[in-house]
Amino acid sequence: MENKGTKTVVIVGAGFYGSVMAERFANELGWRVLLLEKRSHVGGNCWSCPDPDTGVEVHTYGPHIFHTSHEQGWKYLNRFTSFNDYRHTVWATRKGKVYPLPFGLAAINLLLGRRLSPAEAQVWVAAEVAKEGIDKPRNLEEKALSLVGRPLYEAFVKEYTEKHWGVKATELPAYIITRLPVRYTYGVGYYNDRWQGIPVAGYGALFWNMLRHPNIEIRLNTDYFDVRGALPAHDLLVYSGPIDQFFDYRHGRLGWRSVRFEKLLPGVADFQGTSVMNECDGDVPYTRTHEFKHFTPERTFERTVVFREYSYAPRPGDDVYYPVRNDADLAIRAKYKAESEQVPHVVFGGRLGAYAYLDMENTVSTALEKFEVLKQDVVCG
Ligand SMILES: Cc1cc2nc3c(=O)[nH]c(=O)nc-3n(C[C@H](O)[C@H](O)[C@H](O)COP(=O)(O)OP(=O)(O)OC[C@H]3O[C@@H](n4cnc5c(N)ncnc54)[C@H](O)[C@@H]3O)c2cc1C
Repeated sequence: MENKGTKTVVIVGAGFYGSVMAERFANELGWRVLLLEKRSHVGGNCWSCPDPDTGVEVHTYGPHIFHTSHEQGWKYLNRFTSFNDYRHTVWATRKGKVYPLPFGLAAINLLLGRRLSPAEAQVWVAAEVAKEGIDKPRNLEEKALSLVGRPLYEAFVKEYTEKHWGVKATELPAYIITRLPVRYTYGVGYYNDRWQGIPVAGYGALFWNMLRHPNIEIRLNTDYFDVRGALPAHDLLVYSGPIDQFFDYRHGRLGWRSVRFEKLLPGVADFQGTSVMNECDGDVPYTRTHEFKHFTPERTFERTVVFREYSYAPRPGDDVYYPVRNDADLAIRAKYKAESEQVPHVVFGGRLGAYAYLDMENTVSTALEKFEVLKQDVVCG
């Protein structure tokens, strides 16, 4: 290719969006890549590393289970890692009892202390929904009631959701919940995707394998906003940081919810017998309990490590996790998006750049798709 190896792309953020772009530009187009990451490691929020006390691979920013039904992304990532056979299940504690989620026959029958058949359970859910008589839900609570009825909502959704978002469910917009699937079987698999698993050597190894290329220079502990006046000449900037920060918050700050983790070393080999436990009682201050050793059942550890997840409203400068996306946020985002389309030679992407909740497969596939568009532009001049 003409100019092979002579063009330069600067990439901000070494999460999946930035790392896929870096790998593609270096390997496919032979460009020089300068990858800036303000944290001390690559991988963004998907980063995992061995816990120094137990050796268990912990997911520093919360549990990450890769799942996809799209072959392209699956094949792409398998070039840099293999995945184990982990199949995710989620359990929930409510008033001293443990239930499997999403809602299914086990959760319904445990809650009711009965043995409803699939058909009987469907009739029961339909009757509970009908009792509420909600045609046009005005908020999250009404939306959930209109989908599953009051018993399931009050047991598993209401207090958990209010802890997570920090406001009453009646004050949350209805569109936060698009669906609350109820399965009329005893199946407890959380995801239906064809391909699922955890990278066998951890996410850290996945990212380092992806980024190992002589054309890729990685600068850790480097905030783009501290160095942007002193960057080498470049042909393209790929920006996967917060879009409002790029424009100096001139239309206001976008709303986010954050989480923090409390680490426990319980001194036992197995604390809860599963990887993720939702804490559905309002008087328990954390939302979830994570035990990472269960993500790698092929490995044995003498001790375990547990993270409790607490939800909070971030202050400026804190890490951000979940976009709030209320009406005011979406209006602000539209202004930044319109501006971003006017900035030449800058590509915005990833969860922070798009202000969207993207799971890993969406992030990888949007980066791969965007790269193909950019490649066509380069090839066609
Ligand atoms: C708690 C939680 C659990 C999740 N679990 C799953 C799961 O089980 N399965 C799944 O598929 N997805 C999951 N996700 C989603 C997953 O985390 C995202 O899909 C993924 O992180 C998106 O990658 P990204 O590159 O867009 O963003 P990020 O991973 O956030 O990477 C962006 C990077 O940019 C860096 N950066 C930002 N600003 C600057 C700057 N100014 N200068 C330099 N660097 C900068 C940041 O430090 C960060 O490293 C989860 C998300 C959360 C919040």
